[in-house]
Amino acid sequence: MAYCSFCDFSGIVRNPHYIDLGEEPLAPCPKCVLSQCECGGEDPWFIVKDDKIMDCPCRDIRMKIEKIKSIYYRSGIDKKYQWKFFDSFESNNNLSSKAKNMAYDIVRKFPDVRKGLFLWGNPGTGKTLLSSIVLTELIIRHAIEGRFIKISRTFFNRLRATFAEGSATYGSAREIEQELEIADVLVVDDFGVQRDSAWEQETLYNLVDARYEAEKFTIFTSNVDPRRSLPEVAGGRILSRIKEMCVITELSGQDYRDKL
Ligand SMILES: [Zn+2]
Ligand SMILES: [Zn+2]
Repeated sequence: MAYCSFCDFSGIVRNPHYIDLGEEPLAPCPKCVLSQCECGGEDPWFIVKDDKIMDCPCRDIRMKIEKIKSIYYRSGIDKKYQWKFFDSFESNNNLSSKAKNMAYDIVRKFPDVRKGLFLWGNPGTGKTLLSSIVLTELIIRHAIEGRFIKISRTFFNRLRATFAEGSATYGSAREIEQELEIADVLVVDDFGVQRDSAWEQETLYNLVDARYEAEKFTIFTSNVDPRRSLPEVAGGRILSRIKEMCVITELSGQDYRDKL
């Protein structure tokens, strides 16, 4: 089926008011898909023609939307940031418009992009929002596996618990790690490592290194410039990998800094 310019030739339109309207965040394009639909949107989207059961013209797109949704809801994007797009990110200074442009460029060119992004800056400047937007766009546009993880005590505690015999997740560390290593797109939010924990350093290095080796697209966010916080961590190995994988860019609110 040929899709139209109204849906950017994807067959899918976004519904920014889906919550208020009690509708779905994604829908088949009304102009090129729904205009051909004869099944009335009834799952499994078959029609009967000349006594034969056939796919309704809408079926491919409806199946794709279901696939995108199932990937999306297991991606780990925080509810607060779900289904947000570039129009939600306000850039009111040079740094944030530069970062927004870089993010937009990635979305437009993916998978033809050489490097990921490392966004660093003050808390509250939209790093999590911007990285969630990129992840959302890439999942919708390409229906690829994407994951969002926040590096926190909880993250390490959960991983550590898998080593405790008798815990529900005992022995699943490798599984969790592998899932993060092979995701097509990964956002690592609040990236930071405690200097005194060799195990945490090693865990994060292994993740970064595995994604580097597999040439997987990764976005990091952090409150500090990695060139300042990471040189001495894990013998500088994490920083050197990150420099090769990502464009490091600052995202700070000008206003915020002016007030200091
Ligand atoms: Zn269309
Ligand atoms: Zn149909």
